[in-house]
Amino acid sequence: MDTIFRDIELFKEQIDKYENITLTAHVNPDGDSIGSSLALANFLKESLNKDVTVLIDSTVSSSFKFLPNFDKIKTDTSDVKKLELLITLDCGNKDRLALSEALIDSADYVINIDHHVTNTLFGDLNFLDTKSSSTGEVIYELISRLGFDVSKETAACLYTSISTDTGSFKYTNTTSRTHVIASKLLEKGIDLETINIELYQNTSLEKTKLLMEGINQLTLLKDNTVGISAITNEILDKFNAKTQDTEPIVDFIRNIDVVQLACVIRPIDENSSKVSMRAKKNIDVSKIALVFGGGGHAKAAGCTINADVLGAKEIITKEILNYLGD
Ligand code: 5GP
Ligand code: MN
Repeated sequence: MDTIFRDIELFKEQIDKYENITLTAHVNPDGDSIGSSLALANFLKESLNKDVTVLIDSTVSSSFKFLPNFDKIKTDTSDVKKLELLITLDCGNKDRLALSEALIDSADYVINIDHHVTNTLFGDLNFLDTKSSSTGEVIYELISRLGFDVSKETAACLYTSISTDTGSFKYTNTTSRTHVIASKLLEKGIDLETINIELYQNTSLEKTKLLMEGINQLTLLKDNTVGISAITNEILDKFNAKTQDTEPIVDFIRNIDVVQLACVIRPIDENSSKVSMRAKKNIDVSKIALVFGGGGHAKAAGCTINADVLGAKEIITKEILNYLGD
C-alpha cells in the first residue's frame, strides 16, 4: 500500500526533533540512490540547517562525482556507533541497506522513503509511492509539500535520480508528472549537457569491452525471447573490470527486438551471485526476484542466489522458464 504523504506532519515533527540526520540507501547504489540521497542532504542542510551525513557503501560509482557534495559521502562506518534520525532512500528491505544491522537498530527513529512495489515498510515512518518513477520524484514532492523550493544543486541531483531510473524517460514508470517535475528542475538552470555526458557518454573502455563480452556470453531461450548472460570472476579479471561494470549489459540484452526478458548474473563472492532482470510488456520480473527473497519493479528487479555464477544461472533459468509457464 502506498503511504505517501499521509504523515507529512509527522515527518516535520521528526525532522524538527533531531539535529543529526543520517541518510543511507541500498547496497551498490545507483543513480537514484545517490541522486535522491544527495538531494535530500542538500535540502536538509540548506533549508533546514541540519547536520547531515550521507553514509553509503564503498561500491559507490565515481561516475556520480560530478554531483554537488559527492565528495562528502562517507563510506567508512567504523567510527559510527549510534544513529539518531536515520532516513533510508530507494531501498525496499532493511537487509539491503548499506549499513550493518546493529547500526540500523541503533537509530532512534527510521524514516523509509522509497518507490519499490516490494517495499516492506520497515521504517517507523514510511513514505512509499510506487507510482513515482524514482525516489528522486518522491523527494521532489516531499520538498514541495513541505513548502520549499529546490535549489539548482538539489535540482541536479533530482534530475540524475529521475533520468537514470526512467532510462532517460523511456521506461513505463515515466508519467506526465515525471515530465512536469523534470521541467521544473530544468527551470532551475541545471547544466543538462554536462549531466547527460557524465551519465551516458562516459563509459570506460574496460566497461565497454565487458559489455561486448556480456553479449558474447548470451544464451537465448524460448525462441530467443529470453536472453541470459553470466559474467564470472574470470571474465571480470580478463577485462580488468569491476562487478558494477556489468550494469549496462542487462539493458543491452533487453534492447534486442525479440527479447522479452533479459537476465544477467554476476559474482558477489564464491558462493553467492547477483541476478539482474529486465522485462518488456506483460512480464513482471519482480515476481521471479521475490522467489529468491529479492525484489524491485515489474520491469526491473533483482535478487541474490546462494551459488556461484554458473550455478545461479542454472537456478534462475529454471525459475524464469517456470514463470513463463514451461
Ligand atoms: P538492478 O538489476 O539494477 O540491480 O536492480 C533493478 C531493481 O531491482 C532496482 O530497483 C533494485 O533496487 C531492485 N533490486 C535489485 N536487487 C534486489 C534485491 O536483492 N532485493 C530487492 N528487494 N530489490 C532488488
Ligand atoms: Mn529507484
